[in-house]
Amino acid sequence: MRQTRKILVTGGAGFLGSHLCERLVSAGQEVLCVDNFYTGAKQNVGTLFQFPRFELMRHDITFPLYVEVDEIYNLACPASPIHYQYDPVQTTKTSVHGSINMLGLAKRVKAKILQASTSEVYGDPEVHPQTEDYWGRVNPVGPRSCYDEGKRCAETLFFDYRRQHNLSIKVARIFNTYGPRMQPNDGRVVSNFIVQALTGQPISIYGDGKQTRSFCYVDDLIDGLVRMMGTHDEITGPINLGNPAEFTMMELAETVIELTGAKSSIEFKPLPTDDPRQRQPDISRARDTLGWSPSVQLRDGLGKTIAYFDDLLRDSAA
Ligand code: NAD
Ligand code: UDP
Ligand code: UDP
Repeated sequence: MRQTRKILVTGGAGFLGSHLCERLVSAGQEVLCVDNFYTGAKQNVGTLFQFPRFELMRHDITFPLYVEVDEIYNLACPASPIHYQYDPVQTTKTSVHGSINMLGLAKRVKAKILQASTSEVYGDPEVHPQTEDYWGRVNPVGPRSCYDEGKRCAETLFFDYRRQHNLSIKVARIFNTYGPRMQPNDGRVVSNFIVQALTGQPISIYGDGKQTRSFCYVDDLIDGLVRMMGTHDEITGPINLGNPAEFTMMELAETVIELTGAKSSIEFKPLPTDDPRQRQPDISRARDTLGWSPSVQLRDGLGKTIAYFDDLLRDSAA
């Protein structure tokens, strides 16, 4: 018979998932990490294999999963535009079929379930900064739609399972997050700029570089997710989690060049279709409900991320 509480992390071998598994295991929790290794890797959770309370299972959440758990963090879904557009049908399936399966599981075992939603549900927003009651401006038929609409439908499913089956749900809308263990080639802006700077390549700015994003360091974000899971059943969200400090991509490029001491030039490339012009979270709700706000400044977080990529590139060159 199962005595201790068990936590399921789907997408646990990915960037955010591996940090979350680490945080939970170091807090003494029993963790079941489920991943199909589409964009994640075993090595991301390699340091956790020594703990008997950590378990890794290869599984695709678009298929049913029968396990006994008390809490579910549903993070499975490719997050970088290159990855989620590679097999867009699978991306939507992961958000929609995957959520239905995880909600069905939560219903059967009466587990609390948290969905890793995204600022992409706001699309290219007309409201700035974005508050949770803004419904968004999303293209339903573009190349980003598999991700944006999949995540929007997942939110709908979460709230319908709440209304219909009284599930304990939490919907966190995560804004751009960065840090060690991002993949060097996943096309996201922070990893691209750092790898380009460290390898002396030109920094690729898409469009004019005036578009903005707000970058949250991974440790802050994980803290927000864990706090949200710890709230009582009436707190469902959606709650924005992100760092409100907003930067243009040009400012980000300049900061990365300065911190790495790189000699890289700037190279302008075409702006991808439907690339949002601006993005900044209003985190009043997270402050009020979770007592949470991020504490790591961009320069400090970038410093740690640069050190990580520096080691990684040295190791792969050796
Ligand atoms: P990631 O690509 O590193 O991690 C996703 C993980 O999910 C990978 O390990 C992948 O193998 C796994 N996965 C994908 N499809 C699966 C499936 N069908 N079954 C089982 N596992 C599957 O991305 P990340 O940055 O760690 O993002 C984690 C979650 O957070 C995603 O749901 C993403 O949408 C959300 N999110 C991330 C950010 C960010 O800036 N990193 C922002 C908003 C939302
Ligand atoms: N499901 C699962 N694990 C469980 C329970 C259910 O993967 O422990 C899946 C199941 O395959 C189903 C989905 O979750 O397709 C939704 O379950 P729910 O009970 O809500 O709906 P139903 O089974 O009535 O379709
Ligand atoms: N971007 C860029 N150069 C790159 C990669 C991305 O200028 O090498 C831009 C991209 O067009 C977008 C922003 O940086 O405006 C953030 O892109 P990312 O893919 O990291 O995240 P998302 O668009 O999903 O917020």
